Amino acid sequence: MENTKELRTWLDDMNLDHPLVIAGPCSAETEEQVLKIAHELKDSDVSYFRAGIWKPRTRPGMFEGVGEIGLRWLKKVKEETGMKTCTEVANAAHVKLAIENDVDLLWIGARSTVSPFIMQEIADALAGTDKIVLVKNPVNPDLALWLGGIERLYTAGIKNLGAIHRGFSTYEKTKYRNTPEWQLAIEFQNKFPDLPLINDPSHITGNREMIQEVSQTALDLNFDGLMVETHFDPANAWSDAAQQVTPTKLKSIMEDLTIKKLTDTAASYREPLESLRAQINVVDDQLIDLLGKRMQVADKIGGLKKEQNVAVLQSRRWNEILGKMVLEGDGKGLSEEFILKLFKAIHQESINHQEKIING
Ligand code: PEP
Ligand code: MN
Repeated sequence: MENTKELRTWLDDMNLDHPLVIAGPCSAETEEQVLKIAHELKDSDVSYFRAGIWKPRTRPGMFEGVGEIGLRWLKKVKEETGMKTCTEVANAAHVKLAIENDVDLLWIGARSTVSPFIMQEIADALAGTDKIVLVKNPVNPDLALWLGGIERLYTAGIKNLGAIHRGFSTYEKTKYRNTPEWQLAIEFQNKFPDLPLINDPSHITGNREMIQEVSQTALDLNFDGLMVETHFDPANAWSDAAQQVTPTKLKSIMEDLTIKKLTDTAASYREPLESLRAQINVVDDQLIDLLGKRMQVADKIGGLKKEQNVAVLQSRRWNEILGKMVLEGDGKGLSEEFILKLFKAIHQESINHQEKIING
């Protein structure tokens, strides 16, 4: 992809003075539900109304979407509210129906982005349209696979493109439904700074209480917009009930978000600074997480040493680690003095952990 600036023309042409907002229910359930939510969202910052028509569900036997009839409801949304519409497409047949029914923007779900065959099928089906197409990240944290999917669309001649960051699935349970791995989104932006990048706090958090916080982090990291699942009765939604917010709540979230404006000269300093600080915060969180994991391993070693009645301090091993870390640190521009201080502190903490296990 050479001229990524042209890929964002669709967004620049909207001339928004706030981030792009896409909102609407996880799934279209009934005509009344779709229209009620759309009318409640009408007078807000929402530009695109979303609703899943074909729903990818983890296990069979759950509600899998209303199918084609939902596209007619989306048409009504457009006629009655003036909002543009969008839905997820997962194969060539979906693309054909969505185009026939005048859906304005199509997104490709995380479970489709993982499959180069599906991405190619969708790209071929879309060839020649000027629809806006947003590609969600794949479920696994694989930047190349995400970019590869976008490239397939670009190669098929689709020039109104963007990406949606919806987090990544992990085996370990975390406070997120899908961990954001913000550094991956940052890398994405560094590679294609002009490609519109939208954040999906709903699927990242899986929890409506965390939507505000994740949305703010996304805006601090210069995301171009948000996609937020919205339902008038979230708790009784037919899918993703825990993460949807009411239209009223969405409006208050939007009001409370700090949105950076390119107004005065000081902003040219403050804005990059805020964004860099947000990146630092992400890295610091990872550091703490890693240190915590290191100490868990130290605890296990403490357990083994206790069983075998072996001394905590193993000087030879410790000197090997230090020497290796000084060398590796040098390769990353970190001074010997810093590495020695850092690893002595880490080592001391490990010893304290092991002592506790052995003596306590
Ligand atoms: C959705 O947006 O409703 C959806 C199914 O998302 P994802 O592909 O991110 O799981
Ligand atoms: Mn959903």
